[in-house]
Amino acid sequence: MTKIDCIDKFLRYVKIDTQSDDTTGTSPSTMKQHDLAKLLKQELEDMGVSNVFYDTEHCYVYGEIPATQGHESASALGFVAHMDTSDEVSGKDVKPRIVENYKGDDIVLNAEHSVVLSPKSFPEMLNHIGEDLIVTDGTTLLGADDKAGVAEIMAMAETLLKNPEMAHGPIKICFTPDEEIGGGTAFFDLERFGAKFAYTVDGGKLGELEYENFNAAEGKIKVRGRSVHPGDAKMKMVNASLICYEFHSLLPVFENPMYTEKREGFFHMTQIIGTTEEATASYIIRDHDEALFEKKKELFAAAADFLNKKYGEGTVEVTIREQYRNMIEKIRPHMHLVDNAKKAMEDLGITPIDQPIRGGTDGALLSYKGLPCPNLCTGGYNYHGKYEYASVQEMRSVVDILLGLVKAYSN
Ligand SMILES: [Zn+2]
Repeated sequence: MTKIDCIDKFLRYVKIDTQSDDTTGTSPSTMKQHDLAKLLKQELEDMGVSNVFYDTEHCYVYGEIPATQGHESASALGFVAHMDTSDEVSGKDVKPRIVENYKGDDIVLNAEHSVVLSPKSFPEMLNHIGEDLIVTDGTTLLGADDKAGVAEIMAMAETLLKNPEMAHGPIKICFTPDEEIGGGTAFFDLERFGAKFAYTVDGGKLGELEYENFNAAEGKIKVRGRSVHPGDAKMKMVNASLICYEFHSLLPVFENPMYTEKREGFFHMTQIIGTTEEATASYIIRDHDEALFEKKKELFAAAADFLNKKYGEGTVEVTIREQYRNMIEKIRPHMHLVDNAKKAMEDLGITPIDQPIRGGTDGALLSYKGLPCPNLCTGGYNYHGKYEYASVQEMRSVVDILLGLVKAYSN
């Protein structure tokens, strides 16, 4: 078998800045995502993928590999990864560096700015002793989220095309924009994609398999205060910023990202802006459990109600917007997706790690659009920051997992 490596592809993709931006309101949110889309379209065509389609308006890239002879009636299996990177840390001028045969010590990412990737802060680094780690120069993120997934899917596709003796059913591929800002499926054309089931390749640690995620909503409060000269303010001033504080104090203290893990939900204040006259606070509300999620949204609204009773109707305006839902409801009727992924890992000696996502993925939204879509690992770590890194060996193993799944769905 001719095996295609995913690493040189990955190093090529991370150098292209594809940071998304949730303030532009456009789809794609940033035009620079097209730079990677164009390259992927070209590479898919060059390797011989069929029906390559580049949605030049919304920045999606589709392709397919027709079934090998005798396997045409197998269910079409899809693989999805996102091209954009987080808007939290710059993805411009990424300079990936490979630390070969990692020894378990500190990795100085940037001497000038004293940025050090250390197992003291990230103890899971010690699981990678002897592996080759791809790291940043300490000034940008790496972009393994999710260019590791993109590179692994590309390597899987090229491996299938270089080895026509490997039997498989119809394979569908799609690369999406704007996942990081929750817009990755807005213009996803399920009909064009044509898969019956799919996997997003957008997780972390090797072995991770995710098919449960948060129920998610965004909550905002807008407080109207009354500004009066502070020397003359007794019983007249209403300080909007302080009412924001008060609102926050009405939420359960420990239901905060700082104090929660596993299946525990939270309220997370993402922004607060205020003067005496006016203040706004933005939150995200998360819970895996549907009933607890509903309760959290009720509590959020009730806190605003209480303040309106205290300070007068219209003081606090509250809006709650649903974002995405836990995909488990949509995966449960298709548990073969989970079982086959676990088997593909076990066949390679990899222990599956079955854990709920403390976030969302494109897969959750796709599952609700009718495409059941669990999430697979990529071999990347410490996403959305300068300390992001990826393991060369784990990334290569992910390609093998994808090939194992292709085999599992070949009949
Ligand atoms: Zn991602």
